[in-house]
Amino acid sequence: MYKFDPKIIRVGISGCLIGQKVRFDGGHKRSDFCTEQLINHVEFVPFCPEMAIGLGTPRPSIRLISASLLDGDSNIIAQTAKGEDVTEQLRDYGRTMSAQFGGLSGYVLCAKSPSCGMERVRVYHESGQGNTKDGIGIYAAELMKAQPLLPLEEDGRLNDPLLRENFVTRVFALHDWQCLCHKGITAAGLIDFHSRYKYLLMAHHRDSYLQLGKLLSDLSSNLEAIADTYIAELMQALSLPVTRNNHTNVLQHLQGYFKRLLNSGQRQELADTISQYHQGILPLFAPITLFRHYLNEFPNDYLQQQVYLNPHPEALRLRYGI
Ligand code: SF4
Repeated sequence: MYKFDPKIIRVGISGCLIGQKVRFDGGHKRSDFCTEQLINHVEFVPFCPEMAIGLGTPRPSIRLISASLLDGDSNIIAQTAKGEDVTEQLRDYGRTMSAQFGGLSGYVLCAKSPSCGMERVRVYHESGQGNTKDGIGIYAAELMKAQPLLPLEEDGRLNDPLLRENFVTRVFALHDWQCLCHKGITAAGLIDFHSRYKYLLMAHHRDSYLQLGKLLSDLSSNLEAIADTYIAELMQALSLPVTRNNHTNVLQHLQGYFKRLLNSGQRQELADTISQYHQGILPLFAPITLFRHYLNEFPNDYLQQQVYLNPHPEALRLRYGI
């Protein structure tokens, strides 16, 4: 059982991505981002489902195959190059392990793998002729079913700065939520959490911020059920990509707090920085840094607690490229 520990952010990972030589050909598929950067902020917990079911390495490679059923429907199975069907073994392992993942805050999966792939895995026709790229790895499918809140991402997609920032934001948000649950959910705790996520939620999906606010408007009963709905909807909203327009809207909201505090030169500098971000001349990091600077000069408790200004460790430099 991978128990939650508020001091550690545990993230599952396909073993080959962390450098373990567990691939069918005896190699690995080390992810530079995970092993050189993210590893400084989270504790990776590696799993290799194919090794775990006893296939060993090197081993015959596995393929997903679309097999016809007697009723005319079709079924996706995982088959080794020697013709052995390992679907049920991978499924069982996925089910057993996923049930123990309540203490994880994210998971990085190896792209295209018939076991670990999250999407677009090649599925071959049983005749051997043709394939489609619409499969999900057998182990990954069980993981998704058992842990629907868990932020998942694939190694290849993590090379995209927007997807990378989005994934890490969700990992840190889920861990934050898990800390709240660890202490025990209270009405005040829920309201405080929602208040801290105001601007992050507004950037991702303004309507979700409003709907979740309504959800929390009566916390006199069913607190656990409301909390479950709240986090499911929050994680869903955070998985939506943030456009430059959405960020600009949020930045302009924040700008309003400083209207009367800044002198005209500072006001102009802030407006220009937001505008240059909007035009794609500056990265998001630039206006955020300016806000942090002004917050030091003019402290504001409400803004200082906003996750939007600090969703993940600065050292990851995730807002330099978006
Ligand atoms: S993709 Fe998954 S099953 Fe394949 S080597 Fe990596 S960890 Fe093992």
